[in-house]
Parts: sequence; structure tokens; C-alpha cells
Amino acid sequence: ALTAGIVGLPNVGKSTLFNAITKAGAEMANYPFATIDPNVGMVEVPDERLARIDELIPAKKIIPTTFEFTDIAGIVKGASKGEGLGNKFLENIRQVDAIVHVVRAFDDDNITTVSGKVDPLEDIETINLELSLADLESVNKRYAKVEKVARTKDKDAMAEFAVLQKIKPVLEDGGSVRSITFDEDEQKIVKGLFLLTAKPVIYVGNIAEADMADPDASPYYQQIKDFAAQENAEALAISAKTEEEIAELDDADKKDFLEAEGVSESGLDRLIKASYHLLGLATFFTAGGKETRAWTFKRGMKAPQVAGIIHSDFERGFIRAEVMSYTDLDQLGSAQAVKEAGKLRLEGKEYLVQDGDIIEFRFNV
Ligand code: GDP
Repeated sequence: ALTAGIVGLPNVGKSTLFNAITKAGAEMANYPFATIDPNVGMVEVPDERLARIDELIPAKKIIPTTFEFTDIAGIVKGASKGEGLGNKFLENIRQVDAIVHVVRAFDDDNITTVSGKVDPLEDIETINLELSLADLESVNKRYAKVEKVARTKDKDAMAEFAVLQKIKPVLEDGGSVRSITFDEDEQKIVKGLFLLTAKPVIYVGNIAEADMADPDASPYYQQIKDFAAQENAEALAISAKTEEEIAELDDADKKDFLEAEGVSESGLDRLIKASYHLLGLATFFTAGGKETRAWTFKRGMKAPQVAGIIHSDFERGFIRAEVMSYTDLDQLGSAQAVKEAGKLRLEGKEYLVQDGDIIEFRFNV
């Protein structure tokens, strides 16, 4: 499964956020026996469409789809030249698909920071510098090798060398590869380099509870947002401490609590949704059997591949998919009405599944 790794300097609120995630995960009714790595927190992906589908095509239970966060431990500073724990930190980041970079954006004299002050930009740069240095090392290794082959006029090597020439100076400046604009062919090459600073990132400002209703009013969060924008990255404001409290409440209490805070959705729910989109994930549904269920797929997947997410037999024996869109069901009010309107589609092997598709697969066993 795809996962987003939580990173940040010491004392910024990573463990607090990760606790909120594991507590929210522990509340999940449908996965009582999920045994996973203690560094992995599984949460449900909130999706208002599930309840509506279940209302129109009733089933015994509703099963949301899930998403995983990984807590990335290890030493940050000096990681790029360090041994042991520092290397482990970089290794762990290499294995995640997206980065949730937690940055301190609250004042509290009792909780010390690495630099002795609250300075979001400096914090971000401390971590990003380690990642850029590690990437620079990988790029430099590749650079000499590829340069040699490119001299023989090898087309692939020439294309890769051009990309390396574009990346190298940015890393030397302590910048991130994600801030560079690449065309489609270049993007493929960049992907093959497995660089840390090319991974999609969400900068999470851990703000004070008092700033929850209007995070933009926090100068700390504003700095984080501006930085993220420059890097083609996303920013989000969360009060980790509050999220930890909310995670223990049932749905009704959670709603009351959030209303009292003046927000419509918990920070954790926003983080889950943002991570999901950042990774190019989307949701399809199955309905009409014993359960109404959401499933995660990667945008760009075709019907047989998506069928394989449910069961490998579905992919192997795929015949066709009967598809209606959530929007049609919602607007027309019943599966029958969708059918009568001619909007129940029969789709074959080449069909690109869309977010919100409600699918029944036909397959040979
Ligand atoms: P980590 O080292 O990044 O994992 O940081 P922790 O999650 O352990 O948090 C460090 C300290 O900051 C703990 O004492 C937390 O209770 C506290 N903390 C975390 N989030 C907040 C917050 O939003 N506001 C305040 N005042 N304290 C927080």
C-alpha cells in the first residue's frame, strides 16, 4: 500500500500527531484484527458519498477505504553524512511515497526547540538541507557515469544527462527537485532517480489551538504556506494536541467539538484527504451486496487492474464492468432510475476507472 511518512525536527509534535492517527485508527470498527507495524498508523478515508450510496442501495454495513501513515524516526541533523541512525532516517524516507513534514507553529516556553526559538522556515530548511545533500550525492554519482555514455551520442543517456544538469545546481543551492518544472519525458527520468526531494510533500504547521478557527492569521503558518507555494508543495494547518483529543471522541461528540472550535472538518481528516490526493489516489465503490464499500485505486488504472484490488480472480477472469457514476446515482435517486436513464454503462478492458464510479465486476472463475 502507498504510505505517507511523517517527518520533522524533535519536539514539533510528530508523536502527538501520530498518536492522533493511531487513536483514530483504533476506533475503526471494520478492521479489528489489523495487525500492523507499530510505526504504521492506518486510518479510514472520510468520504461523505458512502452514506448516501448506502441510503440509496442499502446494505448491512459500510466499509470505508483506508490510508497508512508511517512514523519516521531517526536523527535529522547530519543525516546525509552520518552513519547509523541518520542513514536509517534517509532510508525510511526513501521508502515512503509522500512526505508529511511537521513544522512547529505554536508558542510554548515549556517545550524547547532545536534552535532555541520558533522559526518555521529555519526548521524546514534544516530537514530539507539533509535531503538535498543526500540527493546531491546520488546525482553526483550518476552524473559522471551518464556524462561518459552521453558522449557516445546515446539518446537515453543524453536525455538523462540533460535532466541531471538541470537538477544538480538546484541541489547545490540546498533546493528541492520538486521545485523544478519538468516536461513529461523528463518526469519519467526523474522518477527513475528515486530522489528524496522529488517526493510530494505536505508541510503541516502544528498551530496553537487558539489559531484553529483562522490559521492564516498565524504568522508562523503564513510563512509555511508561502514556502510551500514556492516549492509546488501543499501546506496544511493542524493543532496536533487538539487532534489527539478529537481522535478519542465518537462521531457525534467530534462534530460538536469541531463546531465549538469553529471548523467544519478535523485537521486529521483534511490531512488524510490531502495525502490521498497528493499520491494520485481515487476511490471507487462496490454496493448492492452485503456491504457498501469504498476502495482505493491509483488514477490511470484500467478496469481489470482495479478489479484485481478486490480479488486477483476478478482481474484474471475479468469480462466487463457495470458502472454508474456516484453523481448520477445521487441525482437520479436510485439504481433503477440510473438504469432507466441509460446511464448504467458496460465497460471493457480498456476502461479508465474514474473517481466515484460504482462498479459491479463480471468475471469468469
Ligand atoms: P516530536 O518530538 O516531534 O514527536 O514531538 P511531540 O509530539 O513529542 O511533542 C513535543 C511536546 O510538544 C509534547 O510535550 C507535546 O505535548 C507538545 N505539543 C505537541 N503539539 C502541541 C501543540 O499543538 N501545542 C502545545 N502547546 N504543545 C504541543
